[in-house]
Amino acid sequence: MKNTPTLAAPLAHRTVPHLVTSLPGPRAAALIARDDQVLSPSYTRDYPLVIARGLGCTVEDVDGNLFLDFTAGIAVNSTGHSHPEVVAAIIDQATKFLHMSGTDFYYEPEIELAEKLAQIAPGKMAKRVFFTNSGAESIEAALKLARYHTGRQQVVSFFGAFHGRTYGALSLNGSKRVHHQGFGPLLSGIHRVAYNCSRAAIQELFDRVAPPSEVAAIFVEPVQGEGGYLVPDAGFLPMLREICDTNGILLVADEVQAGMGRTGKWFACEHFGVVPDMVCLAKGIASGMPLGAVVAKAEVMDWPPGSHASTFGGNPVSCRAALASIDLIEREYMANARERGEQLRAGLSRLASQFDFLGGVRGLGLMTAIDVNRGSVPDPERRNVLVHAAFHQGLLLLGCGRSGIRFCPALCVTAEEIDTALNILAKICGG
Ligand code: PLP
Repeated sequence: MKNTPTLAAPLAHRTVPHLVTSLPGPRAAALIARDDQVLSPSYTRDYPLVIARGLGCTVEDVDGNLFLDFTAGIAVNSTGHSHPEVVAAIIDQATKFLHMSGTDFYYEPEIELAEKLAQIAPGKMAKRVFFTNSGAESIEAALKLARYHTGRQQVVSFFGAFHGRTYGALSLNGSKRVHHQGFGPLLSGIHRVAYNCSRAAIQELFDRVAPPSEVAAIFVEPVQGEGGYLVPDAGFLPMLREICDTNGILLVADEVQAGMGRTGKWFACEHFGVVPDMVCLAKGIASGMPLGAVVAKAEVMDWPPGSHASTFGGNPVSCRAALASIDLIEREYMANARERGEQLRAGLSRLASQFDFLGGVRGLGLMTAIDVNRGSVPDPERRNVLVHAAFHQGLLLLGCGRSGIRFCPALCVTAEEIDTALNILAKICGG
């Protein structure tokens, strides 16, 4: 930290991007060399960004370079970096108490947040909330609760799915072999079918392998995230709901990436008129403070005291950050996500008509992606080249799926920032 330069002008008053060194700059290079000696080699850093501070959609690195951030820390900083209202809530709570463990004691921020989540989660029925620290932990909790509540063992998930890296969540994944390779044996009783599949595909699974009377839950991302920001057909989620209703199966929506206003509605499943039995949350819920949640129908969350808990889950500082974030998202950022998403997809479609290696513009709100292809074949190498080129122009992007570029900026992103990102993309595609 002592190496971080102090900057004279506040971030908000600079033109972004603004690069003052080659990348990585000297301070970033030195830190990356140290990181290389001590951090786990399992991390996947695509380019050498070393953040010093951030505000809104601007990130400043340790060398004073300013970047336009269209990653939001992997769809997490929903209200932008260090929103003053979120920071104020964090400071206020930190001066009162940092931790008391909601598993064994009571405190108001956790209760207030549970009430708010129960109110905004799909469906008018009574709900209960279990708090966690991450997306994977939310999935673990939902998986355990599904088995406990139904007394059944089998679970259905989808190819392309990403639910996290703890053993239960990992067992549901169907996205990349590297997540599984060398880690077996995983949980038994998990069956995968193609995402956005037909009713017949699920029926075939039931007929050949998994009797529906033994299936506890179907876990689905309403918009598939790491798998490629894939928006399913309008009938897919309603079809899953119907199958679940017919067979006493729980429908679990993994809204870890798509939820909390990112798609222009609180939850992506609302775009499809579907009310899940459980909703799993994390990422954007607290603008960057570690927090996750499972919001379940009250009748489903029927496990007894001691059956599941987490020391840190529902941390009071994180809960206050979540309440402040929800307030901001409700007041203006959810509507902004809708409008800026449309602006972004219109601009990406223009680029796709200009460059024949770009195509497949898709998304809801600010969960938007475009594919990089060679002819009709995905071209991950060129996608990686473009993501790197964007970094060197001061635009932070991430990949998704086989050859997708994802755009998941903070929900406070401005029309000007969307235009700037599109201009940089046009430049690197033409260059
Ligand atoms: N579910 C989805 C849809 C995700 O995108 C992710 C993370 O990318 C997870 C679960 C796991 O979340 P975490 O990394 O917080 O464990």
